Amino acid sequence: MRLVLLGPPGAGKGTQAAILSDALKVPHISTGDLFRENIGKETELGKLAKSYMDAGKLVPTSVTADMVRSRLDQEDAADGFLLDGFPRTVEQAEILAEILADKSTSLDGVLNYKVSEDAVVERMLARGRSDDNEETIRTRLQVYRDETAPLIDFYSDIIIDIDAEGTVEDISSATLDALNR
Ligand code: ADP
Repeated sequence: MRLVLLGPPGAGKGTQAAILSDALKVPHISTGDLFRENIGKETELGKLAKSYMDAGKLVPTSVTADMVRSRLDQEDAADGFLLDGFPRTVEQAEILAEILADKSTSLDGVLNYKVSEDAVVERMLARGRSDDNEETIRTRLQVYRDETAPLIDFYSDIIIDIDAEGTVEDISSATLDALNR
């Protein structure tokens, strides 16, 4: 199954993706995690990404798309994947469609994790990651509204809405139920 996880920062996509990855036996590919790995290893990509991430801004699409393309070329992603954090803009969604078309495939669905802004701000402040301070959170929510939310329309044919305000278990079983339908 080839799925994209969509939702505002702090919606819990990463937590859900880890559970779904086990259940569906497909790799969880998180662009945020790939960037953080690169920052940890102090690669050139990491150095470049860090300044954008610390400011809550999007890393340039050219850089991000190349990283995703090479990750999707790896064998474990050949039969399915959960893409978390990409695409984040319509431009990125168009690039993803091209990447998949080159492999003669396409997405099976887009999981849209719906959660209020109040809830995500609370979750992010509790999480305390280095880019989880109030100002950065505000910027990321603004970027989500302006750049990422339009993807809900872009993917309207294959969108699957999930209420993301319950417990971790509630949300994962709602997701698996929706996928079984
Ligand atoms: P969250 O969903 O909580 O914002 P992520 O780990 O998905 O956290 O992303 C953290 C940061 O990584 C983003 O704020 C952004 O700077 C960068 N990033 C992740 N994915 C992308 C992407 N597809 N395009 C550009 N930047 C990205």
